[in-house]
Amino acid sequence: MLTNHLVPADEQADLTQFTDALHRFCDAEIEPHYRQWEKAGLVPREVFARMGAQGFLCADVPEAYGGTGASANFSFAVAEVLSRRGYSGFVGGLQVHCDIIPPYLLHCGTEAQRQHWLPRMVSGQAIAAIGMTEPGAGSDLKALRTTARRVHDEAGDGYVINGSKIFISNGQNADLLVLAAKTDSAAGAKGVSLFLVDTTTPGFSRGANLEKVGQHAGDTSELFFNDMRVPADALLGGVEGQGFVQMMRELPRERLIIGVQGVAGAKGALDVTLKYVQERQAFGQPIAQFQNTRFTLAQVATDIAAAEAFLNACVDAYRRGELSPEAASALKLHASELFSRVADQCLQLFGGYGYMAEYPISRFWTDARVLRIYGGTSEIMKELVARSLLGR
Ligand SMILES: Cc1cc2nc3c(=O)[nH]c(=O)nc-3n(C[C@H](O)[C@H](O)[C@H](O)COP(=O)(O)OP(=O)(O)OC[C@H]3O[C@@H](n4cnc5c(N)ncnc54)[C@H](O)[C@@H]3O)c2cc1C
Repeated sequence: MLTNHLVPADEQADLTQFTDALHRFCDAEIEPHYRQWEKAGLVPREVFARMGAQGFLCADVPEAYGGTGASANFSFAVAEVLSRRGYSGFVGGLQVHCDIIPPYLLHCGTEAQRQHWLPRMVSGQAIAAIGMTEPGAGSDLKALRTTARRVHDEAGDGYVINGSKIFISNGQNADLLVLAAKTDSAAGAKGVSLFLVDTTTPGFSRGANLEKVGQHAGDTSELFFNDMRVPADALLGGVEGQGFVQMMRELPRERLIIGVQGVAGAKGALDVTLKYVQERQAFGQPIAQFQNTRFTLAQVATDIAAAEAFLNACVDAYRRGELSPEAASALKLHASELFSRVADQCLQLFGGYGYMAEYPISRFWTDARVLRIYGGTSEIMKELVARSLLGR
């Protein structure tokens, strides 16, 4: 994706150097351990720190907050490289840490909040998560029931938070949780606020690491808040009732990065399939010789090329500050559906071996499924696109 003409010429050489170094890191630090992490259901915290030490985390955070100040393309390249190599289970949490939380802090946080959290996130010392979804509030976020009650007492100004969240990526590892809660239960969307919760706060607890169908290397958890008291300056941006506006503002990048993951994952599925069909023999010839195989691969490659053109247009629009919510939704819809479809078509070409966990194509297939659900389901993406077409 990023090695095309849309990347400015002066950035291309640095980006190539960056992705070469990242591939070397993957060979040495990820590939040998990935199956073990899948069994454990978690990427060890030290891996974040090692990635941070090499500049692979939150790559576009400005230098003033410990980052390199590179363009967002560098951060997208991390998701792209890892997804294409088949590490989507890790990418799910990594993109929350690198691509979703930093913009909240940069665009909506106070200077003190940025100074406190961003340098730790860049170095990998603090791992970040975002808590929006609740057992009774997923697509319908306005229905969330976690409350934050303002208190002023001898301990100072603060909020007492009660409630729970579910399906939270990085839930087991998280040091920072960007938490959506109602500061005014009567005010609907205007009563939602976001808090920067230090997970060592008394009253915070983690549920079990949830067992998933795929993306096994990523930890996903229920989180509980029981009279959890946070200081008043944990309120993101310092103004109550802004949570919904803040979330809506940052969702395009969340959807863009899932688009990166989807297209790169589809390419990774095609990579392993191209190799396999030339090795596997049936009826005295490589299965690559069958017309069905050739047509399937040609169709898959064509679909990926078309999706990639759309992705590049969205990346370019993002760089210019012009990525619309509907374009980001359409991209997320298209790329996540593409990844699932491509992984399924490719798996079929592996026959029974494709259904065996030891073959990487099976991981692409299981990992792909959730892209159509998290970050907003395909149905919600269609609603958003339809709304932009019809005006309501
Ligand atoms: C692995 C994983 C990681 C996740 N990580 C995070 C995270 O880090 N932070 C976080 O906050 N959340 C996270 N989520 C939650 C995810 O964003 C939600 O699961 C998703 O938004 C859907 O919400 P739901 O599961 O409650 O489904 P529901 O909202 O109950 O939807 C059920 C079905 O109804 C459909 N539906 C709902 N409303 C409409 C409508 N208006 N029109 C048409 N169809 C509709 C949906 O499309 C879906 O098919 C994660 C989920 C998973 C599985």
